[in-house]
Amino acid sequence: VRDVDPLFPALAAPDTAPSGDALRFGDRSLTYSELALASAALAGRLRGAGRVAVWATPSLETAVGVVAALRAGAPAVPLNPKSGDGELTHIVTDSAPSLVLAGPGDVLPPALAGLSRVDVDVSDHRPGAGGAVAEPDDPEAPALIVYTSGTTGPPKGAVLPRRAIVATLDALADAWQWSGDDVLVHGLPLFHVHGLILGTLGPLRRGGSVRHLGRFSTEGVARELGSGATMLFGVPTMYHRIAEALPDEPRLVTALGGARLLVSGSAALPVHDHQRITSATGRRVVERYGMTETLMITSVRVDGEPRPGAVGVPLPGVELRLVDEEGEAITAAGPEAVGEIQVRGPNLFTSYLNRPDATARAFAPGGWFRTGDMAVRDADGYVRIVGRKATDLIKSGGYKIGAGEIENALLEHAGVREAAVTGEPDADLGERIVAWVVPADTGAPPAPDELTDHVAARLAPHKRPRAVRYLDALPRNDMGKIMKRALPHR
Ligand code: ATP
Ligand code: MG
Repeated sequence: VRDVDPLFPALAAPDTAPSGDALRFGDRSLTYSELALASAALAGRLRGAGRVAVWATPSLETAVGVVAALRAGAPAVPLNPKSGDGELTHIVTDSAPSLVLAGPGDVLPPALAGLSRVDVDVSDHRPGAGGAVAEPDDPEAPALIVYTSGTTGPPKGAVLPRRAIVATLDALADAWQWSGDDVLVHGLPLFHVHGLILGTLGPLRRGGSVRHLGRFSTEGVARELGSGATMLFGVPTMYHRIAEALPDEPRLVTALGGARLLVSGSAALPVHDHQRITSATGRRVVERYGMTETLMITSVRVDGEPRPGAVGVPLPGVELRLVDEEGEAITAAGPEAVGEIQVRGPNLFTSYLNRPDATARAFAPGGWFRTGDMAVRDADGYVRIVGRKATDLIKSGGYKIGAGEIENALLEHAGVREAAVTGEPDADLGERIVAWVVPADTGAPPAPDELTDHVAARLAPHKRPRAVRYLDALPRNDMGKIMKRALPHR
């Protein structure tokens, strides 16, 4: 298959590119023509380099490095600068890059000592320095190798072709009416799909612009949305902080009220946080659902009905089915018709790097990718994620119970700041429901009975937790995702 659609039309034809900032990180920025020149100069050096690692700090250097690698056809492997040496060694050994791109001031850890280093010079704007940059014309060639978040086990490298990146970004543009006029406020890391592909490559493909906060803060969100930015991408922990801050920050209320689009993804957005944001600002949060391997699968559409607790409908081009334990497609709707989400479409990865067995296991007959996520559907097709098959589906007393709705119920209690629900072996029930709770810092923690009564009053009696355990914080990874496998005594 040959495809001449460039990933970044605005860089392929810089003469007609938008005149404003393409990227801004703190007080440093690049226009489209500067980005076109700096990335072309670096791409000239990367041609034929094979895989290149990118020390993915939230910086102009990372964005230019990834764009240059894409333009040179050198598959980029973003590295999380907060990873420990063990995880970095795992990723570098697995992906075997020929070099690492870094910012001039970055200090690289021992795990990367064996790699030759190329510093990204974002001020290299010499016309013609890279020669004529022609994007590789095979849409199936690996463009990025992104490691999964490591929520359920060691991170796996997902090989993503340009075809998948284009498909997902264009499907989101349709669902979100996303255009070159949009200015994105971004506070996410750049080594995962959310912050890199959606948050950085997305605006560049549209010809819009990115303002990165460096570090997420509610003040930064208020400042940027209050001065011309139109959209915010965040993870649920950020929306939680926003929900907490709203009563005391009138500027934040005004700024969010004026935003065109607030998007949440990477984990479930607690219904309580969503409702607090909507009642304070009048704005809904658009939830989307996806994975490293599949890029984006569903989203609430901007022209669709908001529905807290649901992740919307399959994106254009994505086929989605729910499958029961026998592998049969479920056609029924409603809260009892729980099945695994399986997907097909141009948004899918090619393979797990160096893991042919894991790749083969990930697909069901017919080319359906098994997401490992369980869901139900409303009658009109809206998808509701119940949780991960491995950690969030509790089989207790003959029922299949999703951890998410119990977590949502616990979070509605004023004495609960964070909650995670798991199943533990039980001689009688098969599994029993256990609630892990981080108390809100106001006063004494709520008593276990009070919390289990609170859940039982909102949900069916069989969803009452049998034990409540208190923690100071829940174990979370760098994306803010709760790592249930790291809870004590499991
Ligand atoms: P690993 O695969 O290494 O265990 P991970 O699955 O967390 O880590 P990612 O690919 O970053 O790695 O995350 C994808 C997962 O995140 C999905 O399978 C799903 O469980 C969860 N997820 C993403 N978006 C949402 C959402 N809107 N609601 C609920 N869960 C979501
Ligand atoms: Mg996963």
